[in-house]
Amino acid sequence: MSGPCSVTFLGTGTSHGVPMIGCRCGTCRSSDPRDRRSRPSILIETGDGAHVLIDTTPDLRSQALAHDLDRVDAILFTHCHADHVMGFDEVRRFNVLQRSAIPCYGDPGTLKELRRTFAYVFESRDEGGGIPKVDLFPVGGPFSIGGEEFVPVPVRHGAREILGYRVRNFAYLTDCSGIPDRSWPLLEGLDTLVIDALRHRPHPTHFTVEQALAVSARLAPARTWLTHICHDLAHAATNASLPAGVELAYDGLQIDI
Ligand SMILES: [Zn+2]
Ligand SMILES: [Zn+2]
Ligand SMILES: [Zn+2]
Repeated sequence: MSGPCSVTFLGTGTSHGVPMIGCRCGTCRSSDPRDRRSRPSILIETGDGAHVLIDTTPDLRSQALAHDLDRVDAILFTHCHADHVMGFDEVRRFNVLQRSAIPCYGDPGTLKELRRTFAYVFESRDEGGGIPKVDLFPVGGPFSIGGEEFVPVPVRHGAREILGYRVRNFAYLTDCSGIPDRSWPLLEGLDTLVIDALRHRPHPTHFTVEQALAVSARLAPARTWLTHICHDLAHAATNASLPAGVELAYDGLQIDI
């Protein structure tokens, strides 16, 4: 393990983003910049300086521009829902800048869905510069990027099981409605937990704030950040109601891990 590792929250919103198209609620019309949430993604900068992107959201282009992101060394996919993959085509810019294909990691089911969703990328015979160039690596256990070990953590997301990821004592569990028994040991000893907390009302595929707090209480990390947040949760008011050590994440937040 080399230098410090940092995490930038590129997006912390649910699939619609906040503000939501056509909504005039208090959160969607808020002037607090923390109430503007793009689709969920983080960037991890490893101790060796590698840039590891988790998911390619429909907002990837604006996220990259906002954070001056000009290199992506690897992409980890959590699952193939639209809010996590629809910026995949933006990978082309990094291919040009880096003059190389970009390694992408995900569970076999996610990679299969990615191949189907973006068939033009994987089936094209075109040798031109018009499609993303990637190498897909199915994830079955811990793997190494930029001198860091990444541990896939299976989580329930409604009826399906998808991946969260752990690096050092940090875990990112976006899109999560349950923790399978076998995943709890993978989450022991965390300093920082990032976890799905869509809203207060129950949802079939996402934790509520209360459910996320219960997971946080059981794992007892020093800090917990809630993400994948919908417009039901205004930033300032919700934050004021959370227990010590738990906060809503927001776009642009940077932390060391
Ligand atoms: Zn709204
Ligand atoms: Zn999802
Ligand atoms: Zn999602």
